[in-house]
Amino acid sequence: MIKTDVVIVGAGPVGLFAVHQLGIKGLKSEVIDNLDKAGGQCIELYPDKPIYDIAGIPECTGEELTQNLLEQIKPFNTNFHFNERVQEIKSENNTWIVKTSKDKVFSSPNIIIAGGVGSFEPRKLSVKNAEKYEGKNIFYSVSNKEKFKDKKISIFGGGDSALDWTLELSKISNVTLIHRRDKFRGAPHTLNEIKKLEKDGKVSIKTQYQLSSIEGDNSIKSINIKDDKGKEIAIETDYILSFFGLIMKLGPITDWGLNMDNKTIKVNTENFETNKKGIFAIGDICTYPGKLKLILSGFHEGALASVECFKRARPNEKYRFEFTTSSKDIQARLGVKTK
Ligand SMILES: Cc1cc2nc3c(=O)[nH]c(=O)nc-3n(C[C@H](O)[C@H](O)[C@H](O)COP(=O)(O)OP(=O)(O)OC[C@H]3O[C@@H](n4cnc5c(N)ncnc54)[C@H](O)[C@@H]3O)c2cc1C
Repeated sequence: MIKTDVVIVGAGPVGLFAVHQLGIKGLKSEVIDNLDKAGGQCIELYPDKPIYDIAGIPECTGEELTQNLLEQIKPFNTNFHFNERVQEIKSENNTWIVKTSKDKVFSSPNIIIAGGVGSFEPRKLSVKNAEKYEGKNIFYSVSNKEKFKDKKISIFGGGDSALDWTLELSKISNVTLIHRRDKFRGAPHTLNEIKKLEKDGKVSIKTQYQLSSIEGDNSIKSINIKDDKGKEIAIETDYILSFFGLIMKLGPITDWGLNMDNKTIKVNTENFETNKKGIFAIGDICTYPGKLKLILSGFHEGALASVECFKRARPNEKYRFEFTTSSKDIQARLGVKTK
C-alpha cells in the first residue's frame, strides 16, 4: 500500500500542474495514468500543434507545454504510475483507498480526478478470438521490444505508430505491415525507409487488406487477411501489433458514486470538491456553471483544490497563503538557492 497526501488520476496538463500546486504547499502526490506517458490530450491528440492561450507563453506546442510542466514539477520527485487505470475507490476511516488495474493500492486523504475526457484506450481488433490472445500474442503498444526479437510480427495500421514500429522491429524480426487503405497517414520519410526495406526483402507491405481471422490454439500460429474483393491470404504470425488509434472511455469513474452530469463531474467552485469529501475534480472532467474546457481554467481549479487538500492532509497545521516570489518555504521546496 502506497501512502500519500494526494492521489492524482490523470497526467494531462491539469494533473501535472496540480502536482506543482500541491508540491509548493509541501504535499506529496502520486500520479496515475492509463497512457504510457504524461501530457493527456496535448501529447496524444496534438503534440505538434501550437497553443496560443497559455498565460505568459505566447506560443508552444502540446509537446512543449507537457515538457515545460514536467520541468516545473521536477523538484518534487513525483512518482508516476503509467499504463495503469484507476479502477476502484473506497472509503476507509476517513481515508480513500485507490486501486489500479495492476492491483496497486494507494491510501490517501485526497483524490484529485484530472481525468479529462476519460482514459485513452486503444481501439481494439474486432475479429473473433482476438480477446483471447490479448496481452499474449496481440498487443496495442510496445513496452519491451526484446519480446519481439526473431519473431514473425504482423503490424496493423497506417499512422505513425504502425510505421515507426515497422521500421524499428524490422531490425530484429520479420515484419509484415498491413493497412486497410492504399495510402498511409504516417510520416512520408518513415514510409520511404520502409519501402526501401521492402525492396531489400526485409519487410512485407500489404495494403487494402484487413484482418479476417486468427488461427491458433494456445498461441497464434497464423492470420488471414482479406482485401475488398474477398481475396484472402494467410500470413505466419507469432505476434500481432495493432495501432488503430485511441478512443476515450470514462470507464470506472462513472461507478464511484460521484454526481455526474453528461460525462462530467459536478463540483463546487470554492475548492472543486465533488459530492464526496476529499474527492476533487479539475480540468475537462469537471463541470460547474460557466465552465470553460481550457487548460488555463484547469490550472486555476488545481490551485484552489490544493488548498483544501492541504487542510485535509495536515489537519493540525494552519494553511498560510504565500507568494512564490517571497516565501522561503516554497523556494526551499523548489530547490531555489537563496542568499
Ligand atoms: C485538437 C485540440 C486542440 C486543443 N487546443 C487547445 C488550446 O489551444 N488551448 C486550450 O486551453 N485547450 C485546448 N484544447 C483542450 C485541452 O487539450 C484540454 O482542455 C486539456 O487537455 C484538459 O486537460 P486535462 O488534464 O483536464 O485532461 P486530459 O488532457 O484529457 O488528460 C486526462 C488524462 O487522464 C487519464 N485518465 C482518465 N481516466 C483515467 C483513469 N481512470 N485512470 C488513469 N488515467 C485516467 C487519461 O488517459 C489522460 O491522459 C485542445 C484540445 C484538442 C483535442
